[in-house]
Order: sequence, then structure tokens, then C-alpha cells
Amino acid sequence: MDGCMKAVNFYEPLVMKVEEHPIPRIADNEVLVRVKAVGICGSDVSYYYGHSPLDTPDGKGPLYLGHEASGVIAEVGAIPKRMGLFKEGDRVAINPVQQCNACPACMRGEFNVCSHSEVIGVSVNGCFAEYVKVKFTHAYRIPDEVSFESAALSEPLACATHGIFDLDIKLGQAVVVYGLGGIGLMMVQLAKASGAGKVIAVGVRDYGIEKALATGADHAINVRDKNSKYYSGDTAAKVREWNGGELAPRCIVPTSNIDALQDALRVTGPCSTICYFGLPSPEDRLKIDVLGAIQSERTIRFAWLAPLVWDNVFHAVASGQVDLSPIITNKFTLGQTEEGIKYMKESRDDKIKGLVLID
Ligand SMILES: [Zn+2]
Ligand SMILES: [Zn+2]
Repeated sequence: MDGCMKAVNFYEPLVMKVEEHPIPRIADNEVLVRVKAVGICGSDVSYYYGHSPLDTPDGKGPLYLGHEASGVIAEVGAIPKRMGLFKEGDRVAINPVQQCNACPACMRGEFNVCSHSEVIGVSVNGCFAEYVKVKFTHAYRIPDEVSFESAALSEPLACATHGIFDLDIKLGQAVVVYGLGGIGLMMVQLAKASGAGKVIAVGVRDYGIEKALATGADHAINVRDKNSKYYSGDTAAKVREWNGGELAPRCIVPTSNIDALQDALRVTGPCSTICYFGLPSPEDRLKIDVLGAIQSERTIRFAWLAPLVWDNVFHAVASGQVDLSPIITNKFTLGQTEEGIKYMKESRDDKIKGLVLID
């Protein structure tokens, strides 16, 4: 498609500009998506402030960030057109992690560990722009019931779902969720939808705790704020109190705070499974009583990205098993992208997840 579009170009930490650029030209195996909604991810914040490098050859911009997005098909490449897969106007969500499909990991369906992935908004131009090009294999049509706003969060929801699948919840089991940001709040709902009995939400701010209680958590603990009515300094004791005297059989830790993972070892019992989902620093290490872990046959898993779960995610949102609207707390225009990133990082106001909406 010819013409120009507005795009937010990230040059280097703290330097982002709204510019006019040509609409991307698509290859035969791509589709062009007119972007409607984009989530502001913690990783976008991290790139903006220079806390992590991009996945470009030199780790630097210029690049349009933004990888959690939904939109409508604006142009269909020759291959998907021949297949009759898409037409203009189709509503889609974007899977930004475009694996190579040719390496041994991809052959096994382990797309999340493909080392040749092109990642939209991280290694190639992303979605803080009016248009983005996507491989036709990574634009997924969404059910009518799923709004563009919710569809924009299908990528983090897919990652959260992969983590919950790794947790292998059995019917009725108590699940402790450590960390009540956007992903943690998704996991509270996903745990319930996956058959958990009691869900115990552990956080550090009452705002997140109250969202968790409103969206399905049975109990909550604030582990930081002593003035909170949810405060407890002994998470394990509370878990026993709420779980018939036993420690938890399942615990998921969607936070970069490694102390939470350490604490997860204390609130879980024999034959339990812990799944760690956060993004710790490269120096973080876990201390574990190895003999005790063997004798109580513990499992600790680490979840990364979102292979093979997208269909589950769309159905879960369309059927109402997961409601993303309480998680979306802040909305910005494309021109306010930089402001939005700063706001999500710096403002002390209560907030969970920011979205950039493009009309
Ligand atoms: Zn993200
Ligand atoms: Zn691969």
C-alpha cells in the first residue's frame, strides 16, 4: 500500500519521536495490519529507559517499539491471498514472536526458544505506528466478541497461559499467585478457569490486591505494607490457615522480584509445583535446600513466551472465562506513546496496564 503513516520512532534511551514514514511494503508471505490497540509492556519501558538492549544487530534503535497489538488487515500478501486466508478488514491479533520454523527447536514446536525469531517491536519495527507488517502465519483472526483492546493483550495473556499450563493445576488445588501486575491478575483468572480451588493472591499494593479479589482470588496478602488490612509477615502461615492446614500444592510467580520465588519455596509443600515467570536480573540466583527438595519431590519450572496457546486464549476471552477489562487502567493516543511509557514507569498513581489506541 502506498502512502505515509505516523510512527513513533525510538532512537536511543529517552529519545523517541513521532514521525511520518512510508507505510511498510509487504512481502508475499506477509500481511499489513492497520493497528488499533497496543499494550505498553514492561519491556517497552525497559528499552525506553535503556535498561535492556533491543534485539537488533547492534542492540540499538531506530525502531518502532510495541509488540502487544491488535488491528485490521489492510493488505494481504500474495501467498495468504492465494490461500484465501485473509481479506481486508479482518480483525486480528498479532503474535510478535515470529519463529523461523526451520531449526530443531521449531521442529519440536518449542517456538519460544527458537534463536532465529524475528520479534516485532524488538528486533524489527513494531506496533507504535499506524501500520505494521506481519508474517501471515503470525496474524490471528479474533472472535467478534473480543474487543481490539482485549485482543491487544492476547500476547501477554498467551504468555500467562503458557505459565499456567506449566503449573499443571489439578481440580481443586490451592494456587498461590505472587505478584499482582497485569500478568499476575491474568493468572488469578486463568488459575480459577483451570480448576484451582482457592486462589491466594500475594502482592505489595492494595490496589492490585483489590483487583485480584474482585476478579476471582479467594484470599490476599500484602507482604510489604504494614498499614494494609491484608498485611501478613508470614505468608506460609496464612496459606496453611486457608488451605486446611497444608502448604500450597501450586504456586506461580509472575514478578521479577527473586525474593518472591524464594518465598514461594516456603509456601509450597511436598510434591508441589512452582512456576517462575518473572524477568530477574542476570545476577539473580535462587537458594534451595536440594536434599529437602529431593525428599519432598518438588518441581520448579520456568515459563518463557507463549508457544501453542493462542487458540485457547481467544476462546477464554470470547467465552468470558478471562476478563481483561479490569486490567486495562490507562489509555493513550499514538502521539502520547512516549508520555504513556513514562507515566507507566514514573507516576505514583494506581495503575496496572496502559494501552495506546490508534484510530
Ligand atoms: Zn510484552
Ligand atoms: Zn526456529
